[in-house]
Amino acid sequence: MTNWETKNNFYKNLYLCVLSLIAIIGFSFSISNLPKENFNAQFFVLAFVTIFFSSYIRIQLPRTKIHLSFSEVVVIYILLTHGSGGAVIIAACEALITSYNLRRKGITIKNKTVLFNFLTGSNSIFLTALVINAFFFQSAITVTEKLTGEFIIILLTTGVILFLCNSIFVSIFSALKTEKAARTFWELWFNYCVNALVIYIASALLAGLAVKAQDQVNTPLFLLAVAVSGVVYFTYRRYVDDVRVTSAKAEEAERERAEQAEKHVGELQHYILEQDRISVALRESKEKFRHAAFHDKLTDLPNRNLFVETLHFALEKSRHKSGFKFAVLFLDINRFKTINDSLGHSIGDKLILNVAKRLVTSVRENDLVARFGGDEFAFILNNISNIQDAINFAERIKDKISSPFTLNGRQVFVSFSIGIAMGGSEYEAAEDVLRDADIAMYHAKETKQDYVVFDHNMHARAVTLLQLETDLRVALEREELTMFYQPIINIHSMKLFGFESLVRWNHPQRGLVPPGEFIPVSEDTGLIIPMTLWILRTSCLQMVEWQNSSPDNKNLVISVNISGKHFAEKNLVEQIKKILVETKINPACLKLELTESAVMENAENVIEMLSQIRSLGIKLSIDDFGTGYSSLSYLHRFPINTLKVDRSFVSTMADGTENGEIVRTVIALAKTLKLDVIAEGIETIHQLHQLRILGCEYGQGYLFSRPVSAADAGKIVTDQLRWENIIPKSSFVPAMQHPEFTHLRLAK
Ligand code: C2E
Ligand code: MG
Ligand code: MG
Repeated sequence: MTNWETKNNFYKNLYLCVLSLIAIIGFSFSISNLPKENFNAQFFVLAFVTIFFSSYIRIQLPRTKIHLSFSEVVVIYILLTHGSGGAVIIAACEALITSYNLRRKGITIKNKTVLFNFLTGSNSIFLTALVINAFFFQSAITVTEKLTGEFIIILLTTGVILFLCNSIFVSIFSALKTEKAARTFWELWFNYCVNALVIYIASALLAGLAVKAQDQVNTPLFLLAVAVSGVVYFTYRRYVDDVRVTSAKAEEAERERAEQAEKHVGELQHYILEQDRISVALRESKEKFRHAAFHDKLTDLPNRNLFVETLHFALEKSRHKSGFKFAVLFLDINRFKTINDSLGHSIGDKLILNVAKRLVTSVRENDLVARFGGDEFAFILNNISNIQDAINFAERIKDKISSPFTLNGRQVFVSFSIGIAMGGSEYEAAEDVLRDADIAMYHAKETKQDYVVFDHNMHARAVTLLQLETDLRVALEREELTMFYQPIINIHSMKLFGFESLVRWNHPQRGLVPPGEFIPVSEDTGLIIPMTLWILRTSCLQMVEWQNSSPDNKNLVISVNISGKHFAEKNLVEQIKKILVETKINPACLKLELTESAVMENAENVIEMLSQIRSLGIKLSIDDFGTGYSSLSYLHRFPINTLKVDRSFVSTMADGTENGEIVRTVIALAKTLKLDVIAEGIETIHQLHQLRILGCEYGQGYLFSRPVSAADAGKIVTDQLRWENIIPKSSFVPAMQHPEFTHLRLAK
């Protein structure tokens, strides 16, 4: 029990005690003043009816548990006709019986409430009688003799006092059941009890009417009183029922509205929560998109977009803050493609991740490292004092990356090329700084340096290259390419052996452009593939034409250079086959030249492809031999026919020099591997003489002829022995008899 409940319980008991005290006084007073003559048959009939039946004719006050019964009328009637003594006893008994009746019907009524009803019933009548007597100085019986006007006032007073007593007693009792009793009392009384005033007044008036009717033994009047009472009763009953139904409906509607409102609130809350969830999800997905838009998926480093944006800021800052300098570094891992191709893409990805981790630990907090995709990374070094800071940084990167990476238990070494560009207010756009760093990086790659600082010549070169690239794209279509042919001579018989076809670009503005300038560009752009096919077809057709012109030319051989890049092309063999069919050249008269470095770059794959080419009957030659660091273990596995000694050795092969030794060794090696040897770049009789002595079989060089147009080469074809007299007859020494040659054989 809470505090207030305990307190109220006490007051309730006290209240009941007070009521009991009043009741005792009331009963004592009533019984002592009980006029015996009033207890006639009529009194007992009325008492019986009131006690046992009046409670059935009762009205419940709307929205309360307060019931008003017909007994009020009878009790007032008895009060008026038989005095307070009888009325008090009947009212008390009626209250008691009514309570028990209700309890019998299953309505829970506590004993205290039964006692309270009993006390209220008697006390209200007793107090009303006291007031009436006090104000009108009359006994109840004499009242009936009063004039009608005064009688009505007495009736009204009776009704009001009875109402006040009853309603106040009930309200106090009910209020004591609640925490804020005083407020509840007032609310109960005002909201629910005041309505009952009309019943009490009506009851009093009815009782008065009954008294008057009986008094004057006026049967119609009595009947009228009964009829009016009936009408009033039933009208009120209906009114009360209506009110109850209406209020029930209103309550129902209100409940429904409340439920509806609650449902709406629920839905609204759900909707708001949903909206919140959606907006959070939207925000998150926006952030994700933003992050994805500015970050690399694999390494989570900033990507090119974020890098360029940051670069914009750095550039802006350098414009507005004097002395602020920054550098952009562009890093590319060397031979990453080889790692990717040989070890697989997942290891390639792991390598990139590990490189990224090392790079991240190399930059300062306000610097930026980004991944541009593939094996390209870029840095912004903010607030540096000079280019040396950037160079020192590149050195640091070199140290970081030089230790091997362990990937799936395998150690992988990585080298890189870095281009460095110093940013500053002289740059107009962020992309320009990046472009220059990129150009410097390419320069580093070309020159095989770890890093290169950008200078303006590089840019000019890059622009020229770009122009060259643009022009080259249309050169094929416009048939600006043309083939030149350089004769290859059998330097023992001094007879024409064949030609090497060498491409030239007849540039509309620049004239003849040498292949050294545009072949690398065509390799970078992939133009080399269609270009080589054109070269191969043109050269074969040319050779077939010469061969068909005379039976003497049947064995002439045409050598065509094939770029290393072409070996990445899977269907190279198919393309060659097609050209053989198209041009009808005898495959034995076609020789393909591959540079040593191209062959060595991807030796295992190349061996397989070369075997397929050889199976077509085509001959193979390794060009520029001696410059590509051939591994001897590979060399004997290559299905080749010829080694071409690089021009750089031949041109400087004076007696006893190192290069002379190299040429000598290459020739010996070729002999051991049963390969032909062609010496390139023979420019002097002396070189020719030496090569002949060393047993070199074939030669090519300006001494015989520069590369010439097809027309001029055609003239050479018709005069194949034109070099017969280049060497005085006396110096013709059969190679096998020459002492040097003997020495070589001995050396072998
Ligand atoms: P290469 O295949 O080694 O060609 C020989 C180069 O040496 C030719 O230069 C030729 O003109 C030059 N040469 C020949 N004899 C002498 C000499 O006595 N002295 C000097 N100084 N040079 C001599 P070219 O035509 O400029 O070709 C350079 C390189 O370009 C070629 O070297 C070859 O690797 C490449 N190339 C030329 N034409 C083609 C082609 O049709 N396809 C491909 N893929 N590459 C080609
Ligand atoms: Mg060549
Ligand atoms: Mg060569």
